[in-house]
Amino acid sequence: MSENKSRMTLREAFAATRRGYSILWKAMPKIFPVSLAKNALTALSPYVPLYFTARLVNTVAGGGGGGEAWPLLAALLLSTALAGAAQAAASCRAQVIDNAYAFPARYRLHVDKMLRMDFQDADDPKTLALLNQIMEDENWASWGLWKLKDAFSRLVEAALRILGALALSVSLFTLPVPQGSPLAALNSPWCLPAMLALMAGAVGLSALCYSWAQTFWSAIDGSFFNRAFNALCAHAQFNRSASADIRVYAQDKFLFQKAADPALDGFGPNSAIGRASRGPRGLLTAASEGVVRAYSGAVYLFVGLKALGGAFGVGAIAQYVGALAGLSKGAADLLSVLSDLRENAQFLLPVFQLLDMPNRMYQGSLTTEKRADRNYEIEFRDVSFRYPNTDAWALRHVSMKFKVGGRLAVVGENGSGKTTFIKLLCRLYDPTEGVILLNGIDIRKYRYGDYLALFSVVFQDFKLLSQPLGKNVAASEDYDRARAEQCLVKAGFGARLEQLPEGLDTFLYRDFDENGVEISGGEAQKIALARVLYQDAPFIVLDEPTAALDPEAEAEVYTKFNDIVEDKTAVYISHRLSSCRFCDEIAVFDGGRVVQQGVHDELVEAQGKYRALWEAQAQYYQKRRQAREADME
Ligand code: ADP
Repeated sequence: MSENKSRMTLREAFAATRRGYSILWKAMPKIFPVSLAKNALTALSPYVPLYFTARLVNTVAGGGGGGEAWPLLAALLLSTALAGAAQAAASCRAQVIDNAYAFPARYRLHVDKMLRMDFQDADDPKTLALLNQIMEDENWASWGLWKLKDAFSRLVEAALRILGALALSVSLFTLPVPQGSPLAALNSPWCLPAMLALMAGAVGLSALCYSWAQTFWSAIDGSFFNRAFNALCAHAQFNRSASADIRVYAQDKFLFQKAADPALDGFGPNSAIGRASRGPRGLLTAASEGVVRAYSGAVYLFVGLKALGGAFGVGAIAQYVGALAGLSKGAADLLSVLSDLRENAQFLLPVFQLLDMPNRMYQGSLTTEKRADRNYEIEFRDVSFRYPNTDAWALRHVSMKFKVGGRLAVVGENGSGKTTFIKLLCRLYDPTEGVILLNGIDIRKYRYGDYLALFSVVFQDFKLLSQPLGKNVAASEDYDRARAEQCLVKAGFGARLEQLPEGLDTFLYRDFDENGVEISGGEAQKIALARVLYQDAPFIVLDEPTAALDPEAEAEVYTKFNDIVEDKTAVYISHRLSSCRFCDEIAVFDGGRVVQQGVHDELVEAQGKYRALWEAQAQYYQKRRQAREADME
């Protein structure tokens, strides 16, 4: 978090804060009026009983009978009750808005950006480090955009507290002690500036001591602990496979011990912050509070003396003391929120940096016309690609045309460039050299979203959500149930679907529903396949579509593959060469180049990479079979 801790000028801090508020205003406008109402009531409601109590005490002390006192008492009770009720209702409303609206909006801001930015940027470790930094700053002390939300509430409250206090304390200075009293000196016009100066001095000194004490906090970097504990707690609680590891190896001990290690500057009594709290930090915090109390004493003295001199009734003492205490609290809060905003400005910079990342891939404007005949032809023309910040070519001089409605298998050893080829095809990255054409036009000229919509993909590390099965298949809340069922049956999930207690409405996994079902890797893959079919895009791309299937299920998928894919163009990466037999074309990758292209029988005959892979695999399977047979004997 310290990288951006460069000194910002006041002007820069102001500009950053203003921009931060404008982002917040667009992201969650509703919080502002709600917070305004809640904090206005919080600031002003304590003054209501203060005002009426003063009148009532004055009346009673002045010998006013029930005739005058009763209406005042009624007004006191009623207004106090009403102000309290309104404040509680506004707090309740603000809480609801926070939970149901502001929190989701806060996460949405990052999630939206991460999902909409160029994939290349989202995939870049630097972007992830930036996002991490933003999250850590937020977790650490709500630094960043979230601090602005909190600061707005505090600003409103402090400002209204000050205004209310001023309104109630004006007469303290205007009502004179009768002439002739030895206390008439308190009528001096210097009293007001003197009291204000005293207040400013006390508030200023208190704020200074407080912020000095705070520097002991900000000097320690708590991000390690936040990150480590968040990771550990999240894993221990939510990630079932990791929690098994944590249990077996008792890894929690390691972290909790580390937390107590003073050398790591944690939060324990012997850590830097622990020692400072017993020393200078503790003293400064005490001084900060002590100065304010001393000021309150001076206020009591001034008000008491004026009352003694006969400037006003005894009842007004409570009003003035309360108002001046409110004034100093308001001023202190105002100072503290302004200094927080100043401090916070530097934490907004990483947020802006993330939100300002440009989308280079979104420049195209052509629309991919929806063709009923699915006659989309894609061509790679001498495409080479290097991942950002690397020197090695992941793909080199790849030229290839896709046959419409054909089935293309992409094979090759690990690291040969297969996944990179798919990433370029789906335009997650753009080629470093060469072009990819859709119906003869460079794909960069098409609207990004339109182009992406041509593809349905099952990535190797696809994710299903802990949501009902049907919604997973349709990737949508509202969907066509008959079609979802059809797709599941086609993908080989039909028999299992019949067993599911609530059919399409059965939750996958148990995170959100105790009747949810746990599914195997193979079943998950079938559901992912059904999701691809439901999308009905002209291209389907499968990365190792059957890796998690048992041999029987794999055979089932392959025999039905043509039915499954229908007239779509299918591209799939496979490690098992036996499964490529049914493909119209096989592209063999080696070291980022396409070294062979053809159908299975041809390629097995030819001397080349495919044959070498085929023989290596045949040997591997033969050895496995022999080992199994030996085991069984
Ligand atoms: P395959 O899918 O055939 O296993 P890949 O396409 O994943 O191969 O990788 C091709 C080459 O690109 C490899 O040398 C790999 O290390 C490199 N590579 C893959 N992904 C990245 C990345 N995000 N950043 C840098 N290099 C990468």
